[in-house]
Amino acid sequence: MLIVMKFGGTSVGSAERIAQAASLVTDARSNGHRVAVVTSAMSGVTNTLIDAARAASKGQWDPTIRQRLFELHRTAASVLVADEASRARVTEEIDRRLDRFEKLCFGLSMVHELTPRLLDAISGIGEMLAAPLVAAAIRSRGSGSESVDATDILVTTDQFGGAEPIMEETRARTTTQLGPMIARGDAPVVTGFIGATIDGVQTTLGRGGSDYSASILGAALDADEVWIWTDVDGVMTANPSEVSDARTLAEISYSEASELAYYGAKVLHYKTILPAFRKRIPVRILNSFNPSHAGTRVSVEGDPSVPGVKAVTSIRGVSLIGISGTGMQGIPGIVAKAFDVVAEQQSNVLMISQASSENNICFVISAAEAPGVVKALKSALEFELARGHIEEIASQPVAVVAAIGDRMRGTPGIAATVFGALGSERINVIAISQGSSERNISLVVEEKDAAAAVRALHQAFRLDRTGVPA
Ligand code: ADP
Ligand code: ASP
Ligand code: MG
Repeated sequence: MLIVMKFGGTSVGSAERIAQAASLVTDARSNGHRVAVVTSAMSGVTNTLIDAARAASKGQWDPTIRQRLFELHRTAASVLVADEASRARVTEEIDRRLDRFEKLCFGLSMVHELTPRLLDAISGIGEMLAAPLVAAAIRSRGSGSESVDATDILVTTDQFGGAEPIMEETRARTTTQLGPMIARGDAPVVTGFIGATIDGVQTTLGRGGSDYSASILGAALDADEVWIWTDVDGVMTANPSEVSDARTLAEISYSEASELAYYGAKVLHYKTILPAFRKRIPVRILNSFNPSHAGTRVSVEGDPSVPGVKAVTSIRGVSLIGISGTGMQGIPGIVAKAFDVVAEQQSNVLMISQASSENNICFVISAAEAPGVVKALKSALEFELARGHIEEIASQPVAVVAAIGDRMRGTPGIAATVFGALGSERINVIAISQGSSERNISLVVEEKDAAAAVRALHQAFRLDRTGVPA
């Protein structure tokens, strides 16, 4: 079997963790599998790089950051790589990459401007520092391995901060560059999170995007499976750091996985599923801290034996934009105009709700985008506001809580349970939306109520009993 294995930040967070990741790769090799690896940056490194870039663009460059990053990776190399020549090569590579980081930050401190393009060039350096270490750790366990910069193989659009793969070109390059390595039994270690435009300008796929890199490469290589190694026992009935009795879901469908990821389950980047789904490549989510646990398998069927709600998620840091007025009734085009504005602002709508009286439409977008969207809406709907057809365009910080499951469709009483549970916790539901696929009910609540709402729903649907014990 050809397996693409992705290791997240905590799974490569220290020399010890990298050694464990390397063992998981060499174990799979000994079991007769071929492996291509995708690595994230060591945990915390991407945040450090981004903070440094932001500070540098304000003229505040802290020279100790480079030294700290160098020490973090050099220390790991000294533990992981016994062979002196090999260790020197890895350390030199890390130093060279940090040189680039320092030069870019120096440039920022001169021009005082941080463009999305420059932010991508800097934030993606963490993966470039980690990949040589992971490859060296695999080599020191006796398997062939080399690090590969995704900028050479993962070709993307130029949407900096959220680039999309150009699959044909990516497939061609991946086959030529990784194919021979995999065929001779080596495990290439590719930098997650990053890619480059056709002209070679570095891009990123968005925060948490290494999962997406893994499924893109899995699809490009026609892999048999994609394994996402993380720090929990798979996809669970809720975020285990928020709900203590959350359980692992042994099997979920592609649609459940993407819905869960889209509605806030950080365990998978929300775009991860699509490339795998297109090729029907099974995705497993596994715990590198507990590798004997079977984790979650994502497949076409999922587990149809579980009726109703399977998991509860939440998204914070979002805003509800409301457009209201008694004069909106029957005036065509207001909704169309509003969503034109949202599209022009390149804002992504997470959910929409309209009261049947047509007096109010509301939708949820990222809180960071809200001020710009409200301003643009006020200007585009100036006439309707002046005439009093619309009385108010307002935004309010909220959270979205979602209950998800393929078999919610056809299971009566779900909405009643949702409202009963929230009612008894005295949680006010500001808006509600049920997708026509009926595999998701999303609720808008005040941000302060989000955690309690997730726990109340988890309890009401008895999700502590439906999953697999951790
Ligand atoms: P990695 O660094 O491996 O990519 P992430 O931090 O991005 O890991 O994602 C794993 C985290 O996702 C878990 O530690 C957990 O806190 C969080 N999480 C949120 N929702 C869920 C869920 N439904 N199931 C499992 N983990 C979840
Ligand atoms: N290192 C990147 C991030 O922190 C990508 C990832 O971990 O998936 O966002
Ligand atoms: Mg992640």
